[in-house]
Amino acid sequence: MSDTILETRGLTKEFLGFLAVQNVNLSIRRGSIHGLIGPNGAGKTTCFNLLTKFLQPTRGTIIYDGRDITNTKPAEVARLGLVRSFQISAVFPHLSVLENVRLALQRARGASFDFWRSDSTLKQYDARARELLEDVGLTEYAALQAGQLPYGRKRALEIATTLALEPVMMLLDEPTAGMTSDDVDRIVTLIKRVSVGRTVLLVEHNLKVVEGLCDRITVLARGEVLAEGDYASVSRNPDVQAAYLGT
Ligand code: ADP
Repeated sequence: MSDTILETRGLTKEFLGFLAVQNVNLSIRRGSIHGLIGPNGAGKTTCFNLLTKFLQPTRGTIIYDGRDITNTKPAEVARLGLVRSFQISAVFPHLSVLENVRLALQRARGASFDFWRSDSTLKQYDARARELLEDVGLTEYAALQAGQLPYGRKRALEIATTLALEPVMMLLDEPTAGMTSDDVDRIVTLIKRVSVGRTVLLVEHNLKVVEGLCDRITVLARGEVLAEGDYASVSRNPDVQAAYLGT
């Protein structure tokens, strides 16, 4: 098994002549937490969408676990274990927290809605859903309508529904955005816990979070890789400092 779980070569995305991502070569080590950072408009979200195949690259290749996934469909990529976190909008607000995770499990396993009628199958899903809620610290909220969850807990639910897909590599898009500092601490602990035995690619604005979590960091600016390394080395890099100050 190769040390590198995900690699891109010359990854490029052009929108009507505008290069949102240009010639990006990423190399992500298996089992690491890898940060993707950069100022607004740097191309982070576009990169995420390319890696999970929500967008098709204009040029370049994506190799995941030794397999060329450049032309693979998003659902197949997810089945291979490369899974992005669902956005909060994907949480069903009128269903309970438990039902949301159960539904994610049913979808992940391709279950048809006939399964709703089978008590024993439903029980199995419920048991697994409760385990996942325990993993993300949401046990006490299981019966609550998802729409009633405090914001920080919604992000934890989003992680639980992502875990339902049994990811080998998780892509988390700004998991601490808009959170209070207590919630940030909780989600950092949670990411550390769920990253055991997995690879995580994290887009994150909060540099303290990046420093605390990431083994390696790629800095993007204007669609290109500006720097790569551990936190200490990229934060000392004058090009990175200039990009963040907008100079
Ligand atoms: P980041 O996530 O780092 O803030 P994005 O990947 O969202 O950056 O955007 C990178 C650049 O690509 C931005 O200038 C943005 O306006 C542009 N862009 C992103 N998506 C599209 C699109 N669908 N059509 C045109 N331009 C886009």
